[in-house]
Order: sequence, then structure tokens, then C-alpha cells
Amino acid sequence: GNEARVLAVHQITNRELMPPKPPESLEKIWAENVFNLSKMQASLPKAVFKSIKKTITTGEKLDPSVADAVATAMRDWALAKGALYYAHVFYPMTNLTAEKHDGFISVQGDGNVISEFSGKVLVQGEPDGSSFPNGGIRDTFEARGYTGWDVTSPAYIMETDNGATLCIPTVFVSWTGEALDKKVPLLRSIAAMDKAANKVLKLLGHTEIAHVNSSCGAEQEYFLIDSNFASQRPDLMLAGRTLFGKAPAKGQEFDDHYFGAIPERVQVFMQDVEETLYKLGIPAKTRHNEVAPGQFEIAPFFEAANVASDHQQLIMTVLKHTAKKHGFICLLHEKPFAGINGSGKHVNWSVGNATQGNLLDPGDSPNENAQFLIFCGAVIRGVHKYGPLMRAAIATASNDHRLGANEAPPAIMSVYLGTQLEEVFEQIKNGSVTDSKHKGVMDLGIDVLPPLTKDAGDRNRTSPFAFTGNRFEFRAVGSSQSVSGPLIVLNTMLADSLEWIGNRLESELSKGLELNTAILTVLKEVMETHGSVVFGGNGYSDEWHKMAVEERGLANLPTTADALPYLKAEFIEDLFQKTGVLTPVELESRFEVYAEQYILSIEVEAKLVTNMAKTIIYPAAVEYLSKLSSTISSLSDLGIDCHKDSAKTIAELTNSMAAVTSKLSAAMEPHDFSSTEEQMMYCAKTIRPLMDEVRSYADALEGEIADSFWPLPTYQEMLFIK
Ligand code: ADP
Ligand code: MG
Repeated sequence: GNEARVLAVHQITNRELMPPKPPESLEKIWAENVFNLSKMQASLPKAVFKSIKKTITTGEKLDPSVADAVATAMRDWALAKGALYYAHVFYPMTNLTAEKHDGFISVQGDGNVISEFSGKVLVQGEPDGSSFPNGGIRDTFEARGYTGWDVTSPAYIMETDNGATLCIPTVFVSWTGEALDKKVPLLRSIAAMDKAANKVLKLLGHTEIAHVNSSCGAEQEYFLIDSNFASQRPDLMLAGRTLFGKAPAKGQEFDDHYFGAIPERVQVFMQDVEETLYKLGIPAKTRHNEVAPGQFEIAPFFEAANVASDHQQLIMTVLKHTAKKHGFICLLHEKPFAGINGSGKHVNWSVGNATQGNLLDPGDSPNENAQFLIFCGAVIRGVHKYGPLMRAAIATASNDHRLGANEAPPAIMSVYLGTQLEEVFEQIKNGSVTDSKHKGVMDLGIDVLPPLTKDAGDRNRTSPFAFTGNRFEFRAVGSSQSVSGPLIVLNTMLADSLEWIGNRLESELSKGLELNTAILTVLKEVMETHGSVVFGGNGYSDEWHKMAVEERGLANLPTTADALPYLKAEFIEDLFQKTGVLTPVELESRFEVYAEQYILSIEVEAKLVTNMAKTIIYPAAVEYLSKLSSTISSLSDLGIDCHKDSAKTIAELTNSMAAVTSKLSAAMEPHDFSSTEEQMMYCAKTIRPLMDEVRSYADALEGEIADSFWPLPTYQEMLFIK
């Protein structure tokens, strides 16, 4: 019956709202829980501070002799804030955040205890990493993994109900030095990009060139569902998405949720989230309702990629924790509700430095124009050459539900430049770059770039990867993903393209070409070879899917099973090896881990579908049917003949559901697969369709059975009752 549902609705509508906290002044709470440069300056001897600051700002190696002093200052600060524990925080290949907690406590010979935290402990930790997926890098007998302090990402205090913990962002490597996490390759990709950018900037005539870093601002979409409903949905609790559920009479057709008034309870939640984030020095900036009912977005101001990446992980953690406090669960899944918009994470990305500024900003002088066109051209080349890698970097079982559906970017990688910029590149390709003064002359020394409008009207929402005025926005990234993977790919392919462009420029210059002509020659070549990846039309359309594949030769990789095998392709292995971002062993291990996760998540879902169909939906259908049949027979005693059609429909749907459920169970029996690739395909092509089939019968039943018999909270309830 529906008693539990009714009770949940009752509890929710009578819920006492958490009172909104009086807002604290931003200046007062900003970064209060972060051991940042200013706190270091206040607590460290001058020489130590100078040394550590240099490491943080230039990425230079840490002088080991300063570690002790920093550790002591960090400990004193943390103890004063009530922390009894410290944790090395790391980012395994699972998209999650992992941490190992240790007490500051140290027992002395005399039985007394003191709080101890040495430089050695700060710099290196040794979590028992054996339970983290490593894709075959470590056999379990050498399960040791080491965490190493990432000096460039500040330590912070995480406050939870169980007390405060000093958290130290770290890298996670095997004892043989292989990267077991997402941070090491991210740092390496930035270094590779810096090196290649430096080479190009030198060729452009710059003499003073600061360290080039990449920036990231990620927009996070999420759903909030009342925990009274969620706890009655095993699918939401275990898989993070609904595996059953009939579409509600009202969905998102009216678009009335988007940018609508934020419900009060959600507003209180958001303020709580923001306060926590501000204390952690995370610049949360925008918040609004999203397209679907129950869906929201939060976006911080952009930061250096490495810090932004750690902060993004923290945002996900804080969203989840805070939701619990407010009686919600926060769903970060890419597609929690069928037929309702899913959630993405738009990764805004650019590269730049202190001397030349944002290198993806067109700027307003002719020289800046040329420089911008080079960096932009390098990105175009990268997306064309390594599009399948970009697709692989966002390939998860959950994101597959989004990509290629009619609401999210297609599974074909292309670049959107905007009308004006597309025209400029088209002209470069045709060798007809002109300006009004020098008709027909190819010359970048003059201002060829029209002022680019940064107007939202010129935004193409159907592109997976769009230029948005002074950065690119990778829109196909999944909401539950770490942003590190996509950032690694973007930085690495840019490094490769800049290196190639640098070499080409060098060779043209050595032939005696003038710089501007050399730039145009190289860009023309880039556009001739790679320009087919530029697309400004409707990415959702069937014509594009056909044209992209048949005429332009771009890869359409609809599922993770199609995309992940590219991690094993030779040209991808070469890319990572020559840029020094991942060794072949490290790359292979990533394929193994991601493939395993894909397979596991589909297996878990398939088991859930079977269980729920058998133990929740089938019994409800049978119960209602038995009630209906006894009504039919009593009525028939009275000579009234009705309800038979309804009973027949329900009986048939129930039978069909049971039959497909058995088929699904049988398909889940252990199989021999010749390769991981084959097993992934089996999940994509056999298991998933069977799950969908079971669901289709179950959802039809939901539309036939009396509401008072339906056991699962409905879409309507979950999405609209707050
Ligand atoms: P929209 O929803 O219109 O795409 P938002 O304001 O929600 O825009 O998010 C834009 C994100 O892009 C923010 O995180 C912003 O800080 C970030 N951003 C702006 N400039 C850059 C840049 N140069 N590099 C990286 N991210 C940037
Ligand atoms: Mg955006």
C-alpha cells in the first residue's frame, strides 16, 4: 500500500523549516577555515614564509627544511580551531574524495600525551590504499600508496557534526611513483601546457613570460529531493537515480522553474552551503533554479585549475552534507529522472599568466589578436585530433544517459566559435583575411578581429564545447564527475597543439617568413586539416549527426563502451607519453578502472531493477489485481460484468514485466568475456536495454494501478513537494 508515501507527504508538509541563519559578513567569514598565505605570513618566520610562498606561486620544489616550521604553525592554527584530527585528502580515480584521518595525539614515554605534527607527517602520508582501484598498477601484496602534500592547494578545516578536521590536499602515488589519482596528471598537464605555451609566446616576441596556468570555473547542477521520499526509493539510495517512475502529468514543459523564485526551504539550504564554502575560501558566486523542477545550480568564480578542482570536490561534499542537515538528499547524478532534464557540469576553461593575461581573450590590439588566434587555433586542432579522448574523459554509465539525448550536448565533439570568430577562421582557411584598409592582403598586423560580442544571444546551447568570449565551456561534462579528468585532457591536447604550432612557426620563420605571414600560414594549415570540427549549427539535429560522421569524419561515440577503448589507442598513448602527463602503464590503469566502474554501476543497477520489480512492484500489482478480481466476481454475482479489461491489462503488464525481469536475471548470470571491451559492450547493448524494458512495463503499471496501492514515491511527489 501507499501508507509510507502518505506519511512522507504528511511529514514533509509539516516539516519545521530550519531557521535561516542571520547572514554573516563576507569579509568576516571569508577563508576563515583556510590556512592560506596570509595566515602563514602571520605565523611563520620570515624566511620560511618567503620560501613557501615561492613554492606556492611558482610551483618550485619545496625546501624540505621549511616543512617542520609550516607543520607546527599549521597544527597550532588547527588546534586553536578545535581540530583533533588531520587528514591527507586525495582524489582517487573514482571521482570521489578520499581521506585518511589521524589524530594529532602522540603518547610520550611517561604516559602523557602531546599534540604532534611534524613536517615529515605533513609532507607524506601512507594511507592503506589497497581498497582504491588502481587498474593493476599495484598488486595487493604491495598495496602501499603514498600521499604527498600539494603545497599549491591550501590546507583547510572541515567542520562536521563529528568535529573539526585539518585537511591537507595531497597527491596519491604508488611506491613506484605511478600516479594513482587525478591530481598528479592534472599538475603534469599544466606543466606540459606551460612549457609549450612558453615556447609559442617566445616566438611571438615576448621576453618576459610568467608561468602559464590553466583556469577553471565549473557550474554544478544538482537535484534536491526530500529525504522522506528518497529513503523509500532503493534506486535513489543505491544508484543515485530512479530506475522506475512514470512521467508526471506536469513536467518541465512550462519552463516555469528556470530562474523562477527559489523555494524558501531551498534558499535557506543554499545560504548554509554558501556560508560553509566562503569559510573554505571557495568563491561561490551564482545560484539559480535550473530547467527541471527540483533542479538547481551553483557556480563559483573561476580559479587556477588545480585549486578549482579541489574546490569543486569540496563543493560536491558540502552540497551533500548540507542537504542532509536540511532534510534533503542532493542528487549529483547526471540523469536522476527519466524524461526530465539531467544535470551537467559546465567546465569553463582558459589558460593565461601574469605577464600576458588570459591567452584566450581576443584582446584589443592587433598583436593580441594574432596571439589569441594562435591559442584558439591550437584548441581547434586539439578538439579535432583528440575529440574521442574528450568524449572518453566524460564517459561514465551515468553521463551516457545525458549525452546525445535531446537536452544535452551530443556525443560528437565539435567546437562552437560564434558567428564572427567562425568567419575569421573561415577567411584564414581561404587565405582571404582582409580588412577594410588593405583589401585582399593577408595580414595579421592589422586589426582583423571585429569586436567579438560576448552577448548571450550568440551562445549555442547545443554544442558540447563552445567559445564564450574569453574561454571555452566544456558542456558535456557530467554533474557527478571530478573536473580534473576533463581539465587534464584539455591542457594536454593544448600542450600538444602548441608544441606543434611552435615547431611549425619555427620552421616557417627559419625560411625567412615574416612573423605575421608565418602565423597565417600555420593557422591556414590548422584550419585546412582540422577546421571540420568547427560547427555553429544545431548540435541536436539529425542532420548534424549524419553530416558530422559521414561528411566530416567525426566520431559519434554514444556510449562509454564506445568511448573508453580510445584510451588504449596508440595516438592517445603517444599524446600522453610525449607530453609526460601519463605513462602507458598509468593510462592503461585508467582504462581498467573506468571500464570496471562502468560495468559495476550497470550491474548494480540491473540487480536493483530485478529486486525492485520482483519485491516491490510485482507484489503491489498482484495485490491490486486480487482486489480487482474479487470485485469483479462479486459484481458478476450481481449480474454486473465490468472491470475485466482493466484487470486484463494489469495482468498482462505484470506478466510481461515478470518475463523480462527473468530475462534480465538470466543475462546477469556469470559470463565469459574475451575482453573488458566486450563486457562493456554487453552492458551497453544487452543489459541496459533489458533494464529499460522492465521499466517500461513497470511504469505502465504505475498508470493502471490505484494510487493507494502504489508503494514507491512518484515523480510528481519527489519533484514538486518541498
Ligand atoms: P553561464 O551560465 O552563462 O555559462 P555562469 O556565470 O553561471 O555562466 O558561469 C560562468 C563560469 O565561468 C563562472 O564560474 C566564471 O567564473 C567562469 N569563468 C569566467 N571567466 C573565465 C575564464 N577566463 N576562465 C575560466 N573560467 C571562467
Ligand atoms: Mg554555462
